[in-house]
Amino acid sequence: MMVRHGSVESFLVAVARVVPALVVMLALAMSASAQQPLRVYISADMEGLAGAVSPEQLGPSGFEYQRYREIMTAEVMAAIEGARAAGATEILVSDSHGNAQNILIDRLPDDVRLIRSWPRPLGMMQGIDETFDAVLFVGYHSGATNPAGVRAHTFSSANYYAVRLNGEPVPESVFNAAIAGHFGVPVVLITGDDVTVAELQAAVPGVEGAAVKEAISYHSADSMTPAAAQALIRRQAEAAVRNRARVSPYRLGGPVTLDLTFKNHRPAELLAFLPIVDRVDARTVRFVARDMVELAAFMAFVGGYESGLTP
Ligand SMILES: [Zn+2]
Repeated sequence: MMVRHGSVESFLVAVARVVPALVVMLALAMSASAQQPLRVYISADMEGLAGAVSPEQLGPSGFEYQRYREIMTAEVMAAIEGARAAGATEILVSDSHGNAQNILIDRLPDDVRLIRSWPRPLGMMQGIDETFDAVLFVGYHSGATNPAGVRAHTFSSANYYAVRLNGEPVPESVFNAAIAGHFGVPVVLITGDDVTVAELQAAVPGVEGAAVKEAISYHSADSMTPAAAQALIRRQAEAAVRNRARVSPYRLGGPVTLDLTFKNHRPAELLAFLPIVDRVDARTVRFVARDMVELAAFMAFVGGYESGLTP
């Protein structure tokens, strides 16, 4: 077959015109997929950090507290790095222990945001909404009714004997998973002692765990070193965010019944003065909430209110 010289030239010119356009289209497609937003929410507590076993690590009066603010920050950073390796583009962290001013904010990357201090209506989950893709719990502990686990309690070791949702006692991890579930967001990772990890995995199948220590008793554990724990958390956070579709959001639907049992009579007696509250027994009040958002706000009120508040 004879090909005229001119047609080869015009073919090459046409190719030369098309190729840059294809390259530009490919580059646009790649950058669009690279910028696909993937929002990860991290709720961080302290009792479940590597090595944390007693109040000495957990509050400003403890001799190891300043050191443990560093360790908490490093475990949160490990979770952030793991999430990023799995494609996370935005991270919101909520400091959710004690005074909620534990994490060293100046150690966090510039594009991470941090929620600090109380009160906040969604408690340890403030800032969560339906725009998030996954939730990670870092440094968590087991619940008040669990006979095992380091520092096992639910929201207040001093004041609450049990927190029940729809009749079932729940640890903070399950309570907070139900808040995330209200917004359709799955919890995909929990870090803490072995009891804490098993407790959430029993309620929410498929959640990844990073057990950084084995509980021996309320104030004792057999722990990994902080560096080894951070490597584990980084690895598990990456796997959890990558496989997030395997976990269903933990949805309780509505209405949700809260039964809150205090350690003493008087808080229950006073709360039952309110027409929205029923007194179930001497130390237990019941509040039926429209949904987990309303229920969380009730808990935040009960935990935060006192008539002598200033300013
Ligand atoms: Zn805590």
